[in-house]
Amino acid sequence: MKKIAILGSTGSIGTQTLEIVRTNQDLQVTALAAGANIELLEAQIREFHPSLVAVWEEEKAKELKTKTKDLTLRIVTGMDGLLEVAVQNESELLVTAIVGMIGIRPTIAAMKAGKDIALANKETLVTAGHIIMPLAKECNVQILPVDSEHSAIFQCLQGESKEQIKKILLTASGGPFRGRKREELKNVQVEDALKHPNWSMGRKITIDSATMVNKGLEMMEARWLFGVEPKDIQIVVQPKSIIHSMVEFTDGAVIAQLGTPDMKLPIQYALYYPNRRYLPGERLDFWSLQEITFEKPDMENFEGLSLAFVAAAGGGSLPTVYNAANERAVALFLERKIGFLEIPEIIRSCMEAHHRIENPTVEEILMVEQQVYEMIESRW
Ligand code: NDP
Repeated sequence: MKKIAILGSTGSIGTQTLEIVRTNQDLQVTALAAGANIELLEAQIREFHPSLVAVWEEEKAKELKTKTKDLTLRIVTGMDGLLEVAVQNESELLVTAIVGMIGIRPTIAAMKAGKDIALANKETLVTAGHIIMPLAKECNVQILPVDSEHSAIFQCLQGESKEQIKKILLTASGGPFRGRKREELKNVQVEDALKHPNWSMGRKITIDSATMVNKGLEMMEARWLFGVEPKDIQIVVQPKSIIHSMVEFTDGAVIAQLGTPDMKLPIQYALYYPNRRYLPGERLDFWSLQEITFEKPDMENFEGLSLAFVAAAGGGSLPTVYNAANERAVALFLERKIGFLEIPEIIRSCMEAHHRIENPTVEEILMVEQQVYEMIESRW
């Protein structure tokens, strides 16, 4: 029996993780954490019987306590609650399916408590990769990527040595606005940006896909996970999301991982690594597929992507600024307070105004995040 805890159980990755648990008898959920969706959380508690549950909001936690008073269950709140879930004695592996930099501290705490990490929360690596990767080594725990592209690269690297990587070919669908120019992007609406052509995901990451910021964050995530320089990561647009990413090795061989776009595959791979399990669902049919096409990414019209390479090259606290500015700008766009093109504009302004810190500590990362939020609040 493999015992797992999930941060962000009510979200897109969290619910898909639970779907996998539902169909496999040898996975057991020992702890769950969510933000505010206590209706779904209650249903999850009654189905999966965790002994510990964290709810971010105090009021919601009280409501949940009343709703579940017939159960033996510990309910905790806030950051202390997330940390308690992260280090819970019973669990062996923590799925970090929470959104945002709030994932950093629980991830670190879990590693220090000897838990393997199934990492979906890319913001943790983007902003604190220089802390997380050496710590994983020190604590002798595994960081198992859940992001489909990173899982693909991880799968391509099985039996290979990282030293033999020539470059990583990170594939991108191009999002719903692929092929559009700035002029055509000016007036796009929230509803248009939320229509991803291939993947069904949470709202924030879906907007990130439309701006291509998601690919920028993934490039920074890949850099830490696989120990490569940003210049050795090439973005390849492959609109149908059939190839989930590829690795080119020193001898010129390219290994790719392909499949239908279904997040359950990378989630399940992380949960059972190094084993594979049967996963119900559609399979690729190459006779009907016929072709897979490739394009260069459009860095000019999708400035969010080019800014990611600037942030990665600058390093230090700059990726934190990139990530925090984007997080807040996306929230403003979703609230219809700014236009689509203002998202990269806000990121650029915040990056330009920032005084870079070379090797930021977790406290400094969180302080920079706060400064960026305050700057955005005062200007937009
Ligand atoms: P969702 O928005 O769908 O879900 C986010 C989850 O985090 C929810 O369960 C939410 O709870 C919870 N949450 C938010 N804030 C808090 C908090 N303060 N305390 C506790 N829980 C909190 O996001 P996704 O599942 O789409 O994404 C999660 C992470 O995975 C992100 O980092 C994303 O970039 C990454 N990722 C997602 C992919 C996808 O296919 N969705 C693919 C690859 C990576 P509630 O709803 O109850 O408030």
